[in-house]
Amino acid sequence: MFDPFELDKIIELHQKSYNLFLWLNKKLKELGRKSKENTLFDEVHEKVSFYKGALAWISHHLGEFPPDARPAKKDVEPFAHLFTSYLKTSFIVSDKVRASESGIRCWCPFCSIFFDITAFQLRNPDKKARANAQKLKIRYIETLARNAELSGVPSNIEEWIPTNPELSYDISMAAYAQELIRRSKFASQGEGILALWREIAWKDNRLDKSFKLSAKTIIEAESRILMKLKE
Ligand SMILES: [Zn+2]
Repeated sequence: MFDPFELDKIIELHQKSYNLFLWLNKKLKELGRKSKENTLFDEVHEKVSFYKGALAWISHHLGEFPPDARPAKKDVEPFAHLFTSYLKTSFIVSDKVRASESGIRCWCPFCSIFFDITAFQLRNPDKKARANAQKLKIRYIETLARNAELSGVPSNIEEWIPTNPELSYDISMAAYAQELIRRSKFASQGEGILALWREIAWKDNRLDKSFKLSAKTIIEAESRILMKLKE
């Protein structure tokens, strides 16, 4: 079951990692081809992995980020996990890296995607992503039932979900939150979370600007699901 303190922290880090993307996007677009003024990518990392490159970059530039995009030093690792998961899940990034006119000098898997931020394309959840989202919902309910030590758990959760349409939003929300916590610990790239996000934060095919993720609403969603499971 969700721990409200852990949820609060993850939601804050998640929001900050999104703010970091917005800030970076704006900065790089402003800089354009003025490579000499770009000090955001002035160091070179080992070409290890996307996550490790991001972690090195974030640790190096932490002090330059605006306060609403800056994690505490002790939270840099979960923050880097959330930031890299967000990038990999939300965008199709062209791997046709262009010659460095952007002032980015590092060719590690992380930095090299920023050679041309204008090439970032927003990803849309496809059939596979929606199927993954369904798996995440099933996994969430299984874990919840196990942790709550329920005796009469539905034997087929996949069939149980559509028989409780009034819980549909709650299940999407809780499964999204569980996946977010998992993502702060491992570099996950599954697209299921993108489909879940659309189910909870989008209305009429666009982002509902009034939507705000909160520990309180997630915990309320979980208790409604739990109550139904206990019936
Ligand atoms: Zn790098």
